[in-house]
Amino acid sequence: MSRRSFILYFLLPFLGIALVLLAVSSLDRAYIQGEARGLVLEQLRAAAQILISDISRFLEEGDPPDRILERYARDENIYYMALLDGAKSIVGWRSRFEGYLPLSLDDARRRDAWQISSPAGGIYNLFLPFDLADGRRFHLYLGYSLEGVENIARRSRRTLLLTAVALFSAGLLFARALFRLQKRYLAKAVEAEDHRREKERFREISALTSGVAHEIKNPLNSLSLLCELMKRSAPPGLEEEIRLGGEEIRRIAGIVDRFSQFVKPLHVERRPFPLLDSLTEAAGALAGEFPALTAFRPTVPSGLTVPGDRELLTGVWANILRNALEASGGLPVEVRAETRRRAVLVRFRDTGPGLPPEVAARVFDPFFTTKKSGMGIGLYLSKKVVEAHGGRIGMTSGPGRGTIFEVELPGG
Ligand code: ADP
Repeated sequence: MSRRSFILYFLLPFLGIALVLLAVSSLDRAYIQGEARGLVLEQLRAAAQILISDISRFLEEGDPPDRILERYARDENIYYMALLDGAKSIVGWRSRFEGYLPLSLDDARRRDAWQISSPAGGIYNLFLPFDLADGRRFHLYLGYSLEGVENIARRSRRTLLLTAVALFSAGLLFARALFRLQKRYLAKAVEAEDHRREKERFREISALTSGVAHEIKNPLNSLSLLCELMKRSAPPGLEEEIRLGGEEIRRIAGIVDRFSQFVKPLHVERRPFPLLDSLTEAAGALAGEFPALTAFRPTVPSGLTVPGDRELLTGVWANILRNALEASGGLPVEVRAETRRRAVLVRFRDTGPGLPPEVAARVFDPFFTTKKSGMGIGLYLSKKVVEAHGGRIGMTSGPGRGTIFEVELPGG
């Protein structure tokens, strides 16, 4: 899936849902805040009525207003309070704002409760008239701190923000996981399709190759026989040419044989065999061509056996060794085997020129070769053999760094 589809089908819908949820919850929060304010106001009015009945008693007893107000100085929630007479003149007051009483008679005339904001937070003002038993009229002016309500609002805002962040991160993680899953699934589908196509191609090549091999083999046999006959009665001077002709025919027959082997289905016969013996046998088969192999000493844990087809795997070692020796000009090649997690790992390291990445990526392709007389089927066949054993073959190479082939086989 492309990045665009990811944004279109996962990220945008998720963001949309998150935004709707945020909007709904912030509306809900505003509603709860409004309700809480209403409740607080009711409570304030009830508390003010109790205060008024207290203050009325003290006034009737003749206490001076300032002393009466002093009694409430310790109440944290009362920011300021004032007593006004019937003519709305202040007769006593106290304030936690140093020397400052924010009283607007204009506001008081319009309503008996209103809110102001101050550096110390929201303050609710109540301006309530009351009458004493002797008929005197007073007004009580109160400023209540709304800090408690604001704290609740602040906390709810923080919770909302944290919820939004958590929701957003969880959604992003979820969308990312989905994206990766989808990507992996698509990659697997593409790989399966490639595999299917490669199989198809191989089947076509096999059919063609075995047809051609069959057609060539018969006339080649006749030619080879003819050469033998001509050798016997060849006029002097022509023997060498006839011998060369016979050799060329044998070479062509060899090539045809290898092609036939290439298309033959693999029959793996699994039987444990000593790995060291099989590696030595592979080197022995090449010793005539590469004299450096007389000093060939692979490092193999003593007694290590591999459950597999000895003949086929010896062919694999021989092919890797041949390539390594050709690449490094016959210098001894390092071969090391070890066991790793219930598998045998055989590593071939050469000191050849190495391969650029674009060539390295193709060495296991059928008919890929960089050699003049190469056929490009050795590594393809080796891969087929190793995979038929449930193992894997890999190569690491780089210009000027030499090449390492690694074969991993289960068991051992
Ligand atoms: P061939 O040997 O007939 O070319 P292979 O399938 O055995 O076919 O090898 C394919 C190609 O892989 C070789 O032509 C060569 O380019 C490259 N190759 C294989 N082994 C090595 C190596 N050890 N160092 C450098 N190149 C290598």
